[in-house]
Amino acid sequence: MADAASEETLDNLLREDREFPPDPAFTAQAVGTADLYDQADADRETFWADQARERLTWSTDFTQTLDWSEAPFAKWYADGRLNAAYNCVDRHVEAGHGDRVALHFVGEPGDTRDITYAELLDQVKRAANVLLESGVSKGDRVAIYLPMVPEAVVAMLACARIGAPHSVVFGGFSADALRSRIADAEAKVVITADGGFRRGKPSGLKPAVDEAVADSPSVLKVLVVKRTEQDVAWNDDKDVWWHEALEAASAEHTAEPMEAEHPLFILYTSGTTGKPKGILHTTGGYLTQAAYTNAVVHDVHPESDVYWCSADVGWVTGHTYIVYGPLANGATQVLYEGTPDTPHQGRWWEIIEKYKVSIFYTAPTAIRTCMKWGKDIPEKFDLSSLRVLGSVGEPINPEAWVWYRQVIGGGKTPVVDTWWQTETGAIMISALPGVTALKPGSAQIAVPGISVDVVDEQGNSVDNGHGGYLIIDKPWPSMLRGIWGDPERFKETYWSRFEGIYFAGDGAKKDEQGNIWVLGRVDDVMNVSGHRLSTTEIESALVSHPKVAEAAVVGATDATTGQAVCAFVILRGDAVQEADEPGEGEDLVAELRNHVAKEIGAIAKPRQILVVAELPKTRSGKIMRRLLRDVAENREVGDVTTLADSSVMDLIQQGLAKPA
Ligand code: ATP
Ligand code: MG
Repeated sequence: MADAASEETLDNLLREDREFPPDPAFTAQAVGTADLYDQADADRETFWADQARERLTWSTDFTQTLDWSEAPFAKWYADGRLNAAYNCVDRHVEAGHGDRVALHFVGEPGDTRDITYAELLDQVKRAANVLLESGVSKGDRVAIYLPMVPEAVVAMLACARIGAPHSVVFGGFSADALRSRIADAEAKVVITADGGFRRGKPSGLKPAVDEAVADSPSVLKVLVVKRTEQDVAWNDDKDVWWHEALEAASAEHTAEPMEAEHPLFILYTSGTTGKPKGILHTTGGYLTQAAYTNAVVHDVHPESDVYWCSADVGWVTGHTYIVYGPLANGATQVLYEGTPDTPHQGRWWEIIEKYKVSIFYTAPTAIRTCMKWGKDIPEKFDLSSLRVLGSVGEPINPEAWVWYRQVIGGGKTPVVDTWWQTETGAIMISALPGVTALKPGSAQIAVPGISVDVVDEQGNSVDNGHGGYLIIDKPWPSMLRGIWGDPERFKETYWSRFEGIYFAGDGAKKDEQGNIWVLGRVDDVMNVSGHRLSTTEIESALVSHPKVAEAAVVGATDATTGQAVCAFVILRGDAVQEADEPGEGEDLVAELRNHVAKEIGAIAKPRQILVVAELPKTRSGKIMRRLLRDVAENREVGDVTTLADSSVMDLIQQGLAKPA
């Protein structure tokens, strides 16, 4: 493993000195307060007990907050009982908010549906009855393979309601990926749709399910949502139309309280680095931290805000910050089915204008794509309703952060960069809007109640101004409870690098004020002539050049330097044409190499810079550097099954084959 702790790590990012103090008017109304840090520091367990009781409704109160006696297998609130679906839906209706819109659904073709909490409750109760009638009992697993439609939310909550852990599989994954996930969890029911709308076309889902289910002996029934009205093959023994089953089902269902540690879901990690792992989350701790972080980090005021998280429900961000967090808080949100550029590149901003979205949470890759398209597009829309912006998934380059705040946030909104993982279940590191002064490019500090650090090879905390491994040194409520069916792999993967400490796999640095700058995965750190270089730093240097929209950097084996820096860049709108003119491409590459040398140092100058139209990304928008490393080292490209668009690698390779 590369030594991210090395003192030789360059300091480009730490030279970022822009700072945005909180606006007092924002602070006056903020959900998060500076007090939270003091309360959590004074007594962490009491803090988390208070959060659990304040934010959730328990049918049986708990007597012990944390049981860590079988570490690293944690139990939170173990003798308490609650139902996640009751907390996300029923109680809001009981409190008189049944008429509040839970979901403003926007279909890609332009169809819309507003679903109130009362309507959501009716759907969830009926779906729970359908699952029970289909042979699902408490503890049985259900696979969900749906587009971004309200039924995805209903399906997840119906599972939670009866205590059947769900395993949501990205609608974009192949039949093989679906089959292996069904098999790993031995799912009894699959919930899918005839298809969904993406990029202006109906795309099929049912054929992949048919293929996967043919070899899945555990599956008793397949519930099919009608979305695109495409023709689908039908197996009378197993297939059931969702709308017919829900209509026929009873609308009466009482949510059954579950033990706090009852499994809520399994979710396979996005697979950026290797074989996906089935991450297990349970009920009470997960829901507590989901609701708490959504409230204090996104500053959600459920009576007045319109919240929108652009993630897919097939990613953990969709689980925590579309389904469980915002619904537990009783928020009103937008749920959008399609892509940001269908039918035009202003689609997102049009939706924000129409629904007066006030809180928007998206990924750096999307922000960089919008930078590439140019600010003229968002500038055509009224985005003045926005008051909080969030980012998740990758380090956000300082340039992209500033663009996001200026162009989308009108130069006034706080931008919170939130670091967390499928494994952590909820946000771990982030500024609190209205409380923390913001630093573009840094995830900043642990949220109140969470304890993280940056340590060296030996596991000792590094001083401010130094780098190392990002670790979590105290258990937290929404922590993963294991890898489905593989306790040994759980211990080995997360708890073996440093004794008794969770190691996340990411490298990071602390600046002089103690803010944390996530530098990317330690496996991606390069060693060039004995110097440790972080991919994130070089990528951020490239993105700070006015012609570059996105960059991915990898280390390729080099006979003289050990490893050499290879960069793949996507240009911004006007720069693309210029680069196509004869001779200009080479000039541009030279200009970019020199720019990196100036920003970071000659050692970081890429050996090679390739201008590409697209980068290989997972469905959650993360760059898959291991595939680019294969290209840079002239190897056959590895497993591409978790790519959002597998043709991207072909394009990159064809581009390489073109004479320079
Ligand atoms: P796999 O573990 O299967 O390789 P993955 O790590 O991409 O997949 P996720 O759990 O979705 O799957 O991603 C978590 C990772 O994303 C973090 O470990 C980190 O590398 C990165 N990440 C997420 N948010 C941020 C952020 N705000 N800043 C920097 N990195 C982030
Ligand atoms: Mg990971």
